[in-house]
Amino acid sequence: MENVIIIGSGCAGLTAALYTARADLAPLVVTGMLPGGLLTTTTTVENYPGFVEGIDGFQLMMNMQQQAERFGARLRSLSRVEAVDLSQRPFAVTIDGEVIYTKSLIVATGAGHRHLGIESEHLLENKGVTYCATCDGALPMFRNRPLVVVGGGDSACEEALYLTRFGSTVYLVHRRDELRASKIMAERTLAHPKIQPIWNSQVTEILDVAKDEVTGVRLKHLQTGEESTLDCAGVFIAIGLVPSTQLFAGVLATDEAGYFKLSEGSKTSVPGVFIAGDCADKVYRQAITAAGMGCMAAIDCERFLQEEALAG
Ligand code: NAP
Repeated sequence: MENVIIIGSGCAGLTAALYTARADLAPLVVTGMLPGGLLTTTTTVENYPGFVEGIDGFQLMMNMQQQAERFGARLRSLSRVEAVDLSQRPFAVTIDGEVIYTKSLIVATGAGHRHLGIESEHLLENKGVTYCATCDGALPMFRNRPLVVVGGGDSACEEALYLTRFGSTVYLVHRRDELRASKIMAERTLAHPKIQPIWNSQVTEILDVAKDEVTGVRLKHLQTGEESTLDCAGVFIAIGLVPSTQLFAGVLATDEAGYFKLSEGSKTSVPGVFIAGDCADKVYRQAITAAGMGCMAAIDCERFLQEEALAG
């Protein structure tokens, strides 16, 4: 029987792992299919305190993992939780077909990439349509070719800036006429000579499904309704995140957008189940806030187990 299983290995999960490990709870961390979470797919993280020159996202997450392991956290790498039964304690967690019982649970499942929701996006995924510039930007198919980034937030800016290393021109297609990104990212992006913003526009289709490769996008100007096409070899979609909470549908409360609702600190309506990170945060969504929530969940969990042990 485990003391605590942590689902997720992003900033929230690994910080919870560090704290519960230091509390001698020997946490079992189920990493999911992207160990280290979304931050491993970014370039330099400039706003995580303590790193004067910034730190590579992948490196930051590897450091967090090693730090947690140093105190006794155990990672089940590339493992996926398939089902969780919270109807009685100990909770039953099915990991890759194996049922493991645990006294408590910290859910730090994070968020995944939002999709445009058009058919051609789905049909051309990995054939020029991608959600991660750092993963795919250096592929030969994108080199010295025009590329499109969709979105107007920090992620879109980061993707666009990264892609300037490879693409001939990087078009930033945004549905409004100003960026949502932080001021410093927006200014850096718009000042880059290789980045060309296309305002008030929506990608309505990715071309060319018949050729089974990306050759361009069809755009609609949202104010005039005018349609146009733009040649490109790649479409990088960075339009935000969708919380990964489906595993607990109908069991743990979520808001209308699917984010977990918390009652007090990291607590849920089920005693012994705690939540941390982007799966419960649609406001801040920063690495540092996820880490802070991971710390809170670990402390809440430790106190819960301690009180239970004292009671009986
Ligand atoms: P975001 O801030 O939610 O921005 C999403 C962008 O996509 C918005 O500009 C939005 O347009 C657009 N969008 C949403 N749905 C769309 C659709 N269906 N079609 C076209 N456009 C659509 O998401 P994010 O950029 O992924 O950032 C997520 C969080 O991570 C934020 O809190 C961000 O600050 C943080 N982050 C920080 C850094 C950093 O500090 N270096 C880097 C990356 C991310 P509207 O503006 O019109 O809503």
